[in-house]
Amino acid sequence: MADSAECGVKVMCRFRPLNDSELSRGDKYIPKFKGEDTVVITGKPYVFDRSRSRSTDTCAKQIVKDVLGGYNGTIFAYGQTSSGKTHTMEGKLHDHQLMGIIPRIARDIFDHIYSMDENLEFHIKVSYFEIYMDKIRDLLDVSKTNLAVHEDKNRVPFVKGCTERFVSSPEEVMDVIDDGKANRHVAVTNMNEHSSRSHSIFLINIKQENVETETKLSGKLYLVDLAGSEKVSKTGAEGSVLDEAKNINKSLSALGKCHLCSGRGNCELSFSQSFSLSVGPSKTHVPYRDSKMTRILQDSLGGNCRTTIVICCSPSVYNEAETKSTLMFGQRAK
Ligand code: ADP
Ligand code: MG
Repeated sequence: MADSAECGVKVMCRFRPLNDSELSRGDKYIPKFKGEDTVVITGKPYVFDRSRSRSTDTCAKQIVKDVLGGYNGTIFAYGQTSSGKTHTMEGKLHDHQLMGIIPRIARDIFDHIYSMDENLEFHIKVSYFEIYMDKIRDLLDVSKTNLAVHEDKNRVPFVKGCTERFVSSPEEVMDVIDDGKANRHVAVTNMNEHSSRSHSIFLINIKQENVETETKLSGKLYLVDLAGSEKVSKTGAEGSVLDEAKNINKSLSALGKCHLCSGRGNCELSFSQSFSLSVGPSKTHVPYRDSKMTRILQDSLGGNCRTTIVICCSPSVYNEAETKSTLMFGQRAK
């Protein structure tokens, strides 16, 4: 089982290419990469302690190994709207070259299972939900719009009543994502606005049993496409828009605090960077209760866990301030 004193946290940083509107404005491409652990933005280097360059693909492979080994894990995509979070987490689901982290993970899980001891029996179920204004909505059953977070008898938090689907192949995982995305589109009027203000969470639960020895092992993986990290208040948001902004900022800062509480870390950065974090023995209050999201993730951040944060950035000078604040978020755990 996992060593609860060690918590591996990796931070990857990803700059997407300039998009059409940035190109047509003639925006400058501002990041300069040095080696595999540094990105320089207008003279300021964002250097991380440890350089262990990994692509998202390798990172997905490692986390799958860990989850199959009984760890819990979380992968977040963090960044301002249109920085590439959904591209990173999902990408093109049915395209082998352009698929994102979730489909790669689905593929890797089943590759592992097919290659494992035949005495092992696997039960894999997935859920897909979103958190909008601190309300949990089931993306696999649109009638469930405000689900509660409960704790089981072992004090493990879970979303009560959330649909769970058993899956037995990567294709079935993709089908679930397609269903969830379709439901989301139906329920929402302005998809762009909505996706920038809600967190979407894909949960993979893996239980395995050795039928010979009857030993059991379980692990779960949260794959989180976070709400846009931009400061909505700056753009003159009012009323419910402002409420949303406050809620998003609350969730994200609760998340930041959880990581901060997890101890010191070493980051590596370039197209990919990672840091490893040790959980200090005497950390005080970890504010998991600050938002629904951090409550749900309580046993998948910290102790028995593997965490990866993919920091997504725009390379345009137009977004320089947001990019810097995104990079700072990635460095906060240091
Ligand atoms: P977000 O989810 O952060 O709002 P998206 O993932 O939707 O942003 O990305 C915005 C646009 O940029 C999309 O059209 C997406 O296909 C494109 N894009 C994002 N990242 C990349 C990348 N690494 N390479 C190519 N295109 C990208
Ligand atoms: Mg998105």
